[in-house]
Amino acid sequence: MSTLTRRGFLTTSILSTAAVASTPRIALGAATPPRARVVVVGGGYGGTIAAKYLSMSDPSIRVTLIEKDPVYISCPLSNEVLGGERDLASLTFDYRGLTRRGIAVMQDTVVEIDPAQHLVKGASGNRYTYDKLVVSPGIAYDWDAIEGMSEAVAEQIPHAWKAGPQTRTLRKQLEAMDDGGVFYIVAPPNPFRCPPGPYERAAQVAHYFSNHKPKSKIVILDAKDAFSKQALFQAAWQEHYGDMIEWVSGAQGGIVEAIDPETRTLVGSFEEYQGDVINLIPHQKAGALAQVAGLANESGWCPVDQRTFESSIHKDIYVIGDACIAGVMPKSGYSANSQGKVCAAAILAAIDGEPAPAPSYVNTCYSIIAPEHGISVAGVYRLEDGKIVDVPGAGGVSPADADARTRAMEQQFALDWFRNITSDMFT
Ligand SMILES: Cc1cc2nc3c(=O)[nH]c(=O)nc-3n(C[C@H](O)[C@H](O)[C@H](O)COP(=O)(O)OP(=O)(O)OC[C@H]3O[C@@H](n4cnc5c(N)ncnc54)[C@H](O)[C@@H]3O)c2cc1C
Repeated sequence: MSTLTRRGFLTTSILSTAAVASTPRIALGAATPPRARVVVVGGGYGGTIAAKYLSMSDPSIRVTLIEKDPVYISCPLSNEVLGGERDLASLTFDYRGLTRRGIAVMQDTVVEIDPAQHLVKGASGNRYTYDKLVVSPGIAYDWDAIEGMSEAVAEQIPHAWKAGPQTRTLRKQLEAMDDGGVFYIVAPPNPFRCPPGPYERAAQVAHYFSNHKPKSKIVILDAKDAFSKQALFQAAWQEHYGDMIEWVSGAQGGIVEAIDPETRTLVGSFEEYQGDVINLIPHQKAGALAQVAGLANESGWCPVDQRTFESSIHKDIYVIGDACIAGVMPKSGYSANSQGKVCAAAILAAIDGEPAPAPSYVNTCYSIIAPEHGISVAGVYRLEDGKIVDVPGAGGVSPADADARTRAMEQQFALDWFRNITSDMFT
């Protein structure tokens, strides 16, 4: 019997019994202890997948998923809420599907991880022991990067970079804005969640403005000098919205150094900008839990073995999704999904005392510019010298000269992608 399995016999994975619900798919009899106990923290794009694929692959592993919220609201497609094309209800999912699979879903906020004791502590007072721990906490914001910005100010100047109440607030502010107003989007430096997101957001808001406030303007103040799918975005903005969207690169003065929320003034490197509505997307780092658990390095993100996603800092803890450093993979929901599967396979191998299998990773990000216009970027990745790198020739972006039918098909693919990936996560 391996050490891990022996420890599995000796420990109790959940020392409290406050499970949200749990009906194991394959009942382990009282006398049949699980072969191993895996705890997953974070029920988003990465965590749900790691939990589901571990539980599906080996029902004798006890999988516990700890998520702080009762439901999950998806960021992908949340820009369409700002564009007026959908509501948040269409992006909201619960965890009953995972419970039905036999995963113990706990609503709790993890406040501490003790790597030496293999123990996770919840705000509820619950303690969870693990043989292997997967952490997929998403992102946190670096409030010190822009003077005048804070978590409290973000209630008034919403970033809406986590779909939910702030998405609603921002939509209401756009609705209340007079025709002829100026909407500023402040785009963060790399790396950040969803590289095409700010530019899709500009397109979605332009879609709303062009129907309801056609004299208005959108200005993107960018910390960067280039962005994802740039040529496709700029051509599509022009095609659908004329000169409504203006992009100011970092070199042209787009870097924002300070904000006065009362006067809605942004202090840029060259000049000041006064907006009617401001969407300041803060600089980012790995989610708060990764910071308090000492899983992040000086970059603010979590270094991992990119073959398995095991933390380079703490053994038996795996970090996936936006929080980890995953070579050239972008911080996206699809990347988190792919990493969740690679990580689950590596954990299964470790439990069996086998080497981790050779991984392969994938990502596609769609952006919806207008109701019948989608564009995409895709990547396939492999491990080389311990780093995740592109497979040459296996990815790319939508053709620059695609016809209207192809653009309309890509918009449909975006919706199909969303149905597929959320079904993968929650059923
Ligand atoms: C506007 C926008 C559009 C996007 N569009 C796309 C797209 O089209 N395609 C795409 O692939 N990606 C897209 N993304 C990116 C995608 O949302 C993220 O990359 C993805 O959510 C990352 O998954 P994750 O598991 O790392 O984090 P999340 O999905 O954020 O999940 C983290 C979970 O952990 C929970 N949690 C955090 N801390 C704790 C704790 N201490 N205890 C318990 N639970 C905790 C949170 O409540 C959350 O449910 C978009 C993002 C934005 C903002």
